[in-house]
Amino acid sequence: MRIAVLGAGVVGVASAYFLARAGHIVTLVDRNPGAGEATSTGNGAIIHVSSVQPWSAPGMPRKILGWIGKDDAPFLLRLSAVPKMWRWGLDYLRHCAPERHAEGARHNLALALESIDAIAEIRAETALAYDQAMHAVLKTYATTDALDASEAAHQPLTQLGLRMRRLDRAAAVAMEPALGPVAEKIAGALHFEQDEIGDCKKFSAALAAHAAQHMGLSLRLGVAVQGITTAGGQVTGLATDQGPIAADAVVLAAGPWSATLARPLGVRLPIWPVKGVSLTFPRELWPDAPRMALLDDGRKFALTPLGDRLRIVGSAEIVSDFDTTPDPVRINAIVQRSGELFPQLPALAKDPRAEPWAGLRPVTPSGRPLIGPTKIRGLWLNTGHGHTGWTQAAGSGRRLARMLASNAEAA
Ligand SMILES: Cc1cc2nc3c(=O)[nH]c(=O)nc-3n(C[C@H](O)[C@H](O)[C@H](O)COP(=O)(O)OP(=O)(O)OC[C@H]3O[C@@H](n4cnc5c(N)ncnc54)[C@H](O)[C@@H]3O)c2cc1C
Repeated sequence: MRIAVLGAGVVGVASAYFLARAGHIVTLVDRNPGAGEATSTGNGAIIHVSSVQPWSAPGMPRKILGWIGKDDAPFLLRLSAVPKMWRWGLDYLRHCAPERHAEGARHNLALALESIDAIAEIRAETALAYDQAMHAVLKTYATTDALDASEAAHQPLTQLGLRMRRLDRAAAVAMEPALGPVAEKIAGALHFEQDEIGDCKKFSAALAAHAAQHMGLSLRLGVAVQGITTAGGQVTGLATDQGPIAADAVVLAAGPWSATLARPLGVRLPIWPVKGVSLTFPRELWPDAPRMALLDDGRKFALTPLGDRLRIVGSAEIVSDFDTTPDPVRINAIVQRSGELFPQLPALAKDPRAEPWAGLRPVTPSGRPLIGPTKIRGLWLNTGHGHTGWTQAAGSGRRLARMLASNAEAA
């Protein structure tokens, strides 16, 4: 089958890889000059099986309301977004019910576990290098109460395959010596041995290049898609600024832009852009920096070592447009919060080599991605991965390729 994959972010690239491996004739299309150059570029770089819980959660609406108007809040709802997003917002509120949240977490965990298996398969087949590190994530807590509460919140997922270990302060410092000088600021940590670190952009670019070189993938970069074309209710391909691309099936993997591309076909996708920022700087500025990724629960930031770089992230902002300009106020907020644990960080963040970045998470009200067929024959979705797109990409790509195969067998 000729398949066009629309979007060369990490999800589109993983889809293209598994589809090409299954023997399809695959074209991967993106308007950017390289793969992984939108939301998949400067993200937190953590494959966090331990953080798959949807953001639609009990108690979240009240927190979000309390943060309105506070430009440095960890989760900010811009009022300018409200008039356009009422339908999405109402659906989000519905999914904050405890049982729906728990169902979303179970669903996302299953996909994340599938994903670490699928990415191990990719590594074995391709030997890609993307600054990866295994067993490398600690969540830290300022108080014993916060540690207890978080351990209890993760507990149901341990019945379903999440591996978690509680560490007291001394054990946390033994595992991550960079916590030694600030040990009195943490009560303990949770270690998640399945979590991994890796540069999502490097992975996307390297996997796309590998599939183009070894698996016959046709890479069409720098090509803007104007629309998905159909005839008689069946997909016929893509209209682009460089002419049509014919295909028997299209996989829509355009991240936060997916809803706009699906709408002209009468396919309504509940995906809203939730902006986030990161700051990446050379590790040589802080040679004794952590070797593990640290997610600090109360101070709401993550610090990820990425080869010879360090990255801090920790911001979510429900926005009204697709602007990806990094907002200095939001960047400064995560620098200040991370500085509460590591006082050297605010000074390092001022280094001229520090690179600010912003991206738009494609978030669904349920916090679950959309993977599978649509009412248009030949139009498939692999999108809406929110804050877990890097975590779930490989599994989503493999799952989609399997769904397409069983659909073809049934036809
Ligand atoms: C601050 C931040 C931190 C994050 N941290 C993590 C983390 O630690 N772990 C994790 O699992 N996830 C994390 N995420 C989420 C993750 O980055 C995303 O879920 C993931 O990158 C989405 O990938 P994607 O392929 O769906 O979308 P994208 O990477 O955005 O790819 C979509 C592609 O579609 C292309 N496209 C769109 N429209 C068109 C068009 N008309 N024509 C041609 N091409 C088009 C775009 O150019 C783009 O390349 C984070 C996100 C942010 C913002």
